Amino acid sequence: PAVPDWAAVRADFPLLERQVHGKPLVYLDSANTGQKPRSVIETVDAFYRRHNANVSRAVHALGSEATEAYEAARARLAAFVNVQADDLVLTSGTTMAINLVAYAWALPRLGPGDTILTTRMEHHANIVPWQLVAERTGATVRAVDVTDTGELDGDAVRAALTPDVKLFAFTHVSNVLGTVNPVREFCREARRRGIATLVDGSQALPHRQVDIAALGCDFYAFTGHKMCGPTGTGALWARREHLQAMPPFLGGGEMIREVSFERTVYNDPPHKFEAGTPNIAGHIGLGAAVDYLSSLGMAHVEAREAELRAHALDALRGIEGIRVLGAPREAAAVISFLVEGAHAHDLATLLDLEGIAVRSGHHCAHPLMACFGVAATCRMSMAFYNTHAEVDAFVAALAKVRRLLA
Ligand code: PMP
Repeated sequence: PAVPDWAAVRADFPLLERQVHGKPLVYLDSANTGQKPRSVIETVDAFYRRHNANVSRAVHALGSEATEAYEAARARLAAFVNVQADDLVLTSGTTMAINLVAYAWALPRLGPGDTILTTRMEHHANIVPWQLVAERTGATVRAVDVTDTGELDGDAVRAALTPDVKLFAFTHVSNVLGTVNPVREFCREARRRGIATLVDGSQALPHRQVDIAALGCDFYAFTGHKMCGPTGTGALWARREHLQAMPPFLGGGEMIREVSFERTVYNDPPHKFEAGTPNIAGHIGLGAAVDYLSSLGMAHVEAREAELRAHALDALRGIEGIRVLGAPREAAAVISFLVEGAHAHDLATLLDLEGIAVRSGHHCAHPLMACFGVAATCRMSMAFYNTHAEVDAFVAALAKVRRLLA
């Protein structure tokens, strides 16, 4: 596609026309959850108005329509990340996707003497499930350190990939610093040593073209609500051999072919891992989100966000007493910062009064906060629908708030 008209693109997001506290909303919390374009909202609305029925059960017209639309959404999502639809398990998000791997893949396989390697820049969703597995299997969880620039050092990763490591679980893009990790390189190093890899793609898919097949990982988890889709959507991609070997995680309807008290036969993947009524409308909405992102072109999205990030970093440097965490060479449009002498929550609260939505706190990444010796930060995170004028408004408000707190 051609370079989008970004002003027209912004107008596709009804919520961004809102005011808060009498000021125009400046939404800088897209790493937390993204806003939704009209096409996604209308797709979900149309599903409930015209097609609502359960999937894979009823033979009536609505049942077929719902099933077709749900499976079409899976196919669109699979094409967007360059994988086969049959290898994509639809989940309620990244958390569910990682837990599925923890319970169905890691739990039956690991034991004392085995290690799950992760990193200090992970979201808790890529730490706690491994701790639960470790508790039950006797395996150990270890983490690769983060450098002062907020990156993972290749030599440190290689040194940590010792023979006891059975799984290396790491994030594609940091939700706190924006750091983009060299996923292909890490997966190659792990694979060479016979170590499986799980990549947390939550913060990657909203910001860049991701070709999962080319990454060389074993598992790739992502969430729909950060990439213009509804909440409660997402997926796990896994190599087919894993999906075939893994026992089901949740039991129930839809995931079986035949049930009797003598013998229950499971459905084929991906359905084997989708027990119960799924988020039908949500995933159909996620299909519309993927169409929307494709119409923009992810290369354009990435370039636009790089520009916004550069502008924000430049402007932040002009304010005294600001500390930006990390300085990753390659990063998504996420910036964590602190103001000398001010608490992150106070900053975020005062910014909110100016109409500016940023997140404050630990960002579900306690170990990363510890690496930088802080308890909390403010985080501004952007998407392609943000504007340079919004970045300026944010920086002006921050300067004002800093004076108030000083
Ligand atoms: N991993 C990362 C890097 C994230 O940013 C998030 C969401 N903040 C998650 C995992 C969890 O995603 P979800 O809450 O949608 O399951």
